[in-house]
Amino acid sequence: MNDIIKEINRLKKEKNAVIVAHNYQIDEVQDIADLVGDSFALSKFCANSNADVIVFCGVHFMAESAKIISPKKTVILPEKHAGCPMADMVTAEALKKKKVEHPGAAVVCYINSSAEVKAESDICCTSSNAVNVVNSLEQKDIIFVPDENLGSYIAEKLPHKNIILWNGYCITHHKIKKDDVLLAKEKHPEAILLVHPECRKEIVDLANFVGSTKQIIDYAATSDAKEFIIGTEMGIMHKLKMESPDKKFYLMSPGLICPNMKKTTLDSILHSLQTMTEKIELDEDVRIRARKSLDRMLSVE
Ligand code: SF4
Repeated sequence: MNDIIKEINRLKKEKNAVIVAHNYQIDEVQDIADLVGDSFALSKFCANSNADVIVFCGVHFMAESAKIISPKKTVILPEKHAGCPMADMVTAEALKKKKVEHPGAAVVCYINSSAEVKAESDICCTSSNAVNVVNSLEQKDIIFVPDENLGSYIAEKLPHKNIILWNGYCITHHKIKKDDVLLAKEKHPEAILLVHPECRKEIVDLANFVGSTKQIIDYAATSDAKEFIIGTEMGIMHKLKMESPDKKFYLMSPGLICPNMKKTTLDSILHSLQTMTEKIELDEDVRIRARKSLDRMLSVE
């Protein structure tokens, strides 16, 4: 293991590379990363770094977002088959048809979407700024893609908007049911419940706090509570325990594992640095239009 890490660090230096890892990556990958965070924070970090090469340990749409923002840098996804099933639930073609059905509606895409879908959207959002982004738009009608659960959460917070939902969902968060939560609460009656808005409404309704991975980590660190049930992907537990070693964290359900996020290993990172694969390439017209929807989001924050 140490030999692999040494070789990764040697190649990093040789190629002037940085390694970034999403909060859902396996512990070993998080431990060697220059930054661990949510997808957009990682993309912003990459844009501000002087590195020539970015090794993005996450899923495909995340590495694409880094490339959209840093077109001159080489962006590498160590595992080419690490995709996001939710992002794949909307295509640019299907979205174009939906736009024809709802002329005049604004299109908001969750960052968990392809560069092509971002290019077809008016503005992008993350799970932490989604409500503010939708609220900033003058249109009442909003096509929201692809996460139906996040879209429903926004609709509840903003009853003056007409949110046109898409039938997409995260396979990991959506499979958690109310009974899983009730069982976890029964086992840990003193713990408070922190969940991601990609969960079903029946779960969100039971939560003490709803937020993005970063918001959940920050909430746990600053809260007076000592025990927490965590309703998002299990990879977050590593950072939660590191940031708040005196507190107890219980995963809401053992099923909260994203198989795609677990594909990247130290071996795959080493291989990607040795072979400079899998490089993310984007059509320049798509990249420029996708960039506009990300920039517009930044102007709201
Ligand atoms: S946790 Fe869900 S939304 Fe995130 S990458 Fe996995 S499938 Fe996609």
